[in-house]
Amino acid sequence: MQSMAAKHSIWPREKDIIFDLSGRAQRAEKNIGRENVINATIGALMDDYGRLITLDTVYSEYKNLENAEISAYAALEGQPDYLEAVKKVVFKDYMPNSYIRAVASPGGSGAIKLATWNYTNPGDEVLTSDWFWSPYVSITEEIGRTVGTYELFDENNNFNFKSFKKEFLRIADKQERIFTILNTPAHNPTGYSIPDNEWDKIIGLSKEVAVNKEKKIILFVDIAYIDFASDDNASRMFFEKFSNLPENVLVIVGFSMSKGFTAYGMRMGAAVCITSSENVAEEFYYACVHSCRANWSNCNRGAMAILSNIVNNSEKFKKYNEEKNTYKEMLKRRANAFVEEAEKVGLDILPYRDGFFVSIPCENSREVCEELTKDNVYMVPLKAGLRFAVCAVNENKCKIAPSIIKNALEYVKSQ
Ligand code: PLP
Repeated sequence: MQSMAAKHSIWPREKDIIFDLSGRAQRAEKNIGRENVINATIGALMDDYGRLITLDTVYSEYKNLENAEISAYAALEGQPDYLEAVKKVVFKDYMPNSYIRAVASPGGSGAIKLATWNYTNPGDEVLTSDWFWSPYVSITEEIGRTVGTYELFDENNNFNFKSFKKEFLRIADKQERIFTILNTPAHNPTGYSIPDNEWDKIIGLSKEVAVNKEKKIILFVDIAYIDFASDDNASRMFFEKFSNLPENVLVIVGFSMSKGFTAYGMRMGAAVCITSSENVAEEFYYACVHSCRANWSNCNRGAMAILSNIVNNSEKFKKYNEEKNTYKEMLKRRANAFVEEAEKVGLDILPYRDGFFVSIPCENSREVCEELTKDNVYMVPLKAGLRFAVCAVNENKCKIAPSIIKNALEYVKSQ
């Protein structure tokens, strides 16, 4: 069979399981009616009737832009007012006392690419938790890096710092660079948020390892879901802990407009560095701008204008927050319904705090997902469990789902 792709570009020809199940769910909705199907595969905020939620305060702003403001090239690093707006929405009242530089990227995915490419060496192992967003693997694998994991939870469903420490030190022992991805708050797929006291331990460990000046510690904080964490202040306090870190500990925050601004397809985000060294900040800027030029050139100018126009106008920002908060409340109600019902029917779930998803640990997740489709419930199978998208399912269905899931789990177990 003729093959033309370069060796490094030949990957298994697998169907994407999420898209596959999502397609089947949509066909079922067409055949038997939306009200009879629970489609919990979608990673976007949907209204109670299964329609994508798009914030009016965002899209009215977009439609009021001059054509030239959408059409013109943007600065490679991002428009200056956009970069200022990014810092404002990311940190709010919790800006660390450090040098901070931001570079625009196509979504949070682009920020992950900028950070992993520029802060790891070929062959390096990147660390993240055993429950993780699978594109972390695609993004790092594409550039010849691998992903290692620590156990996110201990036996009491608390943050497993012991496992984190073990894996962090293992990597520190063999590599110059210890690059860790922490997806918090409102982690995908579990809905967990790392509490502040655990952050203290993570930072403490980073400082200990940083005593060896040959080591370079990079904490990549993926905040893709921060705008849907229930408490804006509490979910940002950890940023202040990044003040005055040793020069060889660098924090990079991955910002995304996809969820918080319902701008999934607009592809807008940023990588934001936090460092105590002016030189490290400058170096970050030039390294990332070079990557921008080499990969995608500039980003979506219209999307940048939306963010700066909203965030830099207190009246618009207030309205945006009010609108978004109504959906945050909706999400909370749905998640509460699921979590409470899970507890009632005795379905074990991972500790949900905030965000779009709830996860259920189990074996044979693909089989269980297949079994669930017989009851017209569609979920995403993960390596160690199932992901239920409360962001996409109405409250009533969130209440019904746990007992159906419990039955499917028991059935598969009994086979
Ligand atoms: N990080 C996590 C954990 C995500 O779930 C997502 C999107 O689903 C992203 C980052 C990046 O999203 P985007 O590239 O659309 O901004």
